[in-house]
Amino acid sequence: MNKAYPIPATRIVRHQPGAAQQLGADIAILGAGIAGVSAALEAARLGRRVILIDAGAQLGGQSTQSLIGTFCGLYSNGPAPYRVVYGMADAMLRDLRAMDAVAPRRGRNTVILMYQEQALARWMEQALIAAGVTLLLGSSLLAVHRSDARVTGLSLASRHGLLDVTAQGFVDASGDAALAYAAGFACREPESPIMGTLMFSIENFDEAAAMALDRWAMQRRLAEQAAHYGLVRKDGFVFAFPGKGQALVNMTHVQTPLDAAGHALAQIEGRAQADRVLAFLRGEYPLVFGAARVRSYGLLGIRQTRWICGRQQLDVADVRAGTRPADAVLRCSWPIELHDRADDVHWEEFGDDHLHYLPFGAMLPQEAENLVAAGRCVDGDPAALSSVRVMGPCIAMGAAAAQALDLAGAGSVAQIDIAALQARLADNLERCEPA
Ligand SMILES: Cc1cc2nc3c(=O)[nH]c(=O)nc-3n(C[C@H](O)[C@H](O)[C@H](O)COP(=O)(O)OP(=O)(O)OC[C@H]3O[C@@H](n4cnc5c(N)ncnc54)[C@H](O)[C@@H]3O)c2cc1C
Repeated sequence: MNKAYPIPATRIVRHQPGAAQQLGADIAILGAGIAGVSAALEAARLGRRVILIDAGAQLGGQSTQSLIGTFCGLYSNGPAPYRVVYGMADAMLRDLRAMDAVAPRRGRNTVILMYQEQALARWMEQALIAAGVTLLLGSSLLAVHRSDARVTGLSLASRHGLLDVTAQGFVDASGDAALAYAAGFACREPESPIMGTLMFSIENFDEAAAMALDRWAMQRRLAEQAAHYGLVRKDGFVFAFPGKGQALVNMTHVQTPLDAAGHALAQIEGRAQADRVLAFLRGEYPLVFGAARVRSYGLLGIRQTRWICGRQQLDVADVRAGTRPADAVLRCSWPIELHDRADDVHWEEFGDDHLHYLPFGAMLPQEAENLVAAGRCVDGDPAALSSVRVMGPCIAMGAAAAQALDLAGAGSVAQIDIAALQARLADNLERCEPA
């Protein structure tokens, strides 16, 4: 080495046991999936100091890391659908369109928007930073502190040490009701598993030919040939984002246990199933997918694991009937999409004018005063939840959670003025403009 080269100096440091970093906010949100991001942006817009926490290293949860690929539940049904979710969705869709990172397609009697997950991840980062939200990524929940019905703080562990977060109000947007569960509030788990899916993306295939394939004929072929290729799930689909040379494959079914070792094995089982699905595509459609290869495997997608016991529960009869509860906070037309069997999926699509609604009570853990759930861990029976857990309603739930905690202040979210809440959420309940 050149003797003249200046060697950087060092200093001696020593860990101080028990020293946790102390952070305070008006609203702390556990989970930076699409519901948590929506809650954070809405709360920041209201002038609240916000901390957004996630165990993962990136923002967006499943929306950016599980290769989900389409926004469902943003539009009503029928030949002329209108948007039913606003708030964060306005700027998100405007900016993704400007980046050519979103494209519409018809399906399930509505409009579904395909999107590019890296563009969404960058959009979330920039929007949250611009809004002044404090981001605690790579930070897992260790413990919840309570004073009777009020959550007072969260203890977190990160690779950089321990953290204590205090706030006036909390949002459980963890997908698995991790906050409500760790707080000791009652939660629900399905008696039999709701299957997750490991999505994967492929490249090096004939895009035009793939888009021309008859989806239902492919599904029939899959059912006939599943045993030959060792496939668990006998339904599913491949969809290409036009002009990008990539397609997403949704054809696996894997259980998603709530323990760390079981989850790690499930992730690997999902990849093994994905490899067998690719063998099916190559073997059965050689002119389309003969040279296809895996571009990337998503993080194992989790649908329904554990959710809160709400002050109310959305039930499937109300979903089918389109009942509007007095405390409705959002509307949705997405079908019932229940993944309760390994081999297929139970779908129930709705008619042109159908809308169903989520009651605010389904976002409120029964025993809590300053905690609101948002996203796929709100309370519904498994079939009802299978509809409102898609991303459109998750965005609307984030907005409802932030507005409710803002209205509650130091009081109880169970006692806020519902009419005032609904006035703030009017776009997500009433607005009907042509798409
Ligand atoms: C395979 C699959 C395909 C789907 N397809 C579609 C589709 O095409 N369109 C659509 O709209 N919806 C789809 N969905 C549904 C939708 O993607 C999810 O329900 C939705 O993204 C859930 O968002 P969320 O914010 O509630 O939860 P998540 O995205 O799961 O986010 C929860 C976050 O909380 C964090 N977290 C959890 N526990 C802790 C803890 N203890 N400490 C710290 N952080 C924690 C997690 O790291 C995660 O980032 C699909 C779902 C799956 C699984």
